[in-house]
Amino acid sequence: MNFLITTLLAVVIASPDSRLKVTVDGPVYSITYDDQQLVAPSRFGIRTNCADFTDLRDFELTQERTTVSYELDRIKAGSISKEATHAFLNYNVDKPHGLSVEFYVFNNDVAFRYVIPKTGETGSVRVLDEQTWFNFPEGTTTYMCPQSDAMVGWKRTKPSYEEYYKLNAPLAEKSQFGHGYTFPCLFKVGESGWVLVSETGVDSRYCGSRLSDYTEGKGYKLEFPMPEENNGNGTVEPAFALPGATPWRTITVGRDLAPVVETTIPFDVVEPRYESAHKYSYGKGTWSWILWQDNSINFKDQVKYIDLSAAMGFKYVLVDNWWDVNITRERIPELVKYANSKGIDVLLWYSSSGWWNDIEQGPINIMSDPILRKREMAWLEKAGVKGIKVDFFGGDKQETMRHYEGILSDADDHGLMVIFHGCTLPRGWERMYPNYVGSEAVRASENLIFSQYDCDIEAQCASLHPFIRNTVGCMEYGGSFLNERMDRLNGQPDARGRVRGNIRRTTDAFSLATAVLFQNPIQNFALAPNNLTDAPQLALDFLTEVPTTWDETRYIGGMVGENAVIARRKGDIWYVGAVNAVDAPLNVDVKAIIARLGGTGARVITTVKGETSEVLKFKKPLQVAKNDGAVIIVK
Ligand code: CA
Repeated sequence: MNFLITTLLAVVIASPDSRLKVTVDGPVYSITYDDQQLVAPSRFGIRTNCADFTDLRDFELTQERTTVSYELDRIKAGSISKEATHAFLNYNVDKPHGLSVEFYVFNNDVAFRYVIPKTGETGSVRVLDEQTWFNFPEGTTTYMCPQSDAMVGWKRTKPSYEEYYKLNAPLAEKSQFGHGYTFPCLFKVGESGWVLVSETGVDSRYCGSRLSDYTEGKGYKLEFPMPEENNGNGTVEPAFALPGATPWRTITVGRDLAPVVETTIPFDVVEPRYESAHKYSYGKGTWSWILWQDNSINFKDQVKYIDLSAAMGFKYVLVDNWWDVNITRERIPELVKYANSKGIDVLLWYSSSGWWNDIEQGPINIMSDPILRKREMAWLEKAGVKGIKVDFFGGDKQETMRHYEGILSDADDHGLMVIFHGCTLPRGWERMYPNYVGSEAVRASENLIFSQYDCDIEAQCASLHPFIRNTVGCMEYGGSFLNERMDRLNGQPDARGRVRGNIRRTTDAFSLATAVLFQNPIQNFALAPNNLTDAPQLALDFLTEVPTTWDETRYIGGMVGENAVIARRKGDIWYVGAVNAVDAPLNVDVKAIIARLGGTGARVITTVKGETSEVLKFKKPLQVAKNDGAVIIVK
């Protein structure tokens, strides 16, 4: 099926199953699912320094059915094969500057981008503005994370996607800081369904974008970064060579939350940026910094965490900031040698900066300098280090995207995996960069150490991420605590007799469930050596067993911000994570889940009479209380 229509009339691009329909009428698109309108008429178009493409009228439409197939070992699914309608709307075909809007319409996902061909002498464009809007029917409510002011917070490192979400807010509600919202953004369209809006395929050839505040009658506009980001350095307006294209604007729709949880759209429409000569290995690790903080970045404490990783059967130890001063670069090969003798590999922390914040935690000023960076990567490979965690980036400008890509590409030359913290949302990077293995870009586990309030709302946040942040990209959360108090002493009095550390409100079974709910190919769990003797053996055994890469993911139940029940398959085994954040108990019908996943039996770990327990019989549904959780292992 490949046909061409030249038209001034509205056209419909339908999904392969025909339930999702995108209608394009001049410079306006809208989306229905099962004939319910989920995206109201919204403008699209871009303005560049060579031509204005914001009032697009007559076009030629070509469309054909296609299959998107690929394998990926680091996301929620292993082997993807999906039918789609692939369409081009070609505008200005007889004018000096043409533009195509390219669409992929899958059964529950839409992706579109602007493609500019090379015409005449013009070899490059600067994009001044995108008139890409997302409008919703009246009564729609929102689940979004506000964009922060730039150059504020700890050492002036924001924005880094670490703000609090606002749940079930009206469309017209003003964003907390007046800068709109960071991707992804979730919308509940009354009783009609759900819409998740995001973007993918952002690399060195564009900036990361966000949504504006709401404008009555128009919706939310796609906005470029703020001028103040990256310490004011680098332009807001992206530019690329011709022929070229913008990143993909993505819209996932469904009657319930299953398409939102299960979507692979961030990866379906992007391509690898380079092939790797290396084979990377994913798994679990420990990191002393989360509970023991800066004082633990010394040789002796790192040995304790290497021993902890070895005792847990993990692969990695992550050595956080200040190793350059407190362990020293001369002793890193010795630390790596010790770790390797225990079967453990080492990951090392770096600051990304640079001139875009005030970070003094070392090492600084290496990753920002291409000459020093290449030298450093060669040294890391020689020292036997397997990956780096690079922290504190400068925002979403194209300048910063170039920086991410430079780090990834240089690291791959030396067989190094890369985790980003204090960073932007990954936008298709698992497929684009073979050595990319994680991003924070969320209010992550460190905030449980810093603030009791974050402990108090931990379950609520865990009931958000599988539907929003973590569904579009891996999330290096660094959680699964088994400490009851969030510090090194875990409830033991210090030298002055004080008991310190925030109080964890959640159960151990909850912590185990997040190891399934939160997806990242390398999971650095927030365990401490004391957990080997003070945590339930059942919990330790589960963390030893739980995989970090998956063949399939399914939504079982739950409601955004209240609870979540998500199933992930590895080989023949399904791991189901369930957490509850509200007073009403969450009913988990284990027998129904076994039947739904095609299993024959299950083991359940949950809290029974205050104890972490294994449950093998489930005549009645489990009742998961507030701040509790369950893991269900179905075979
Ligand atoms: Ca952080």
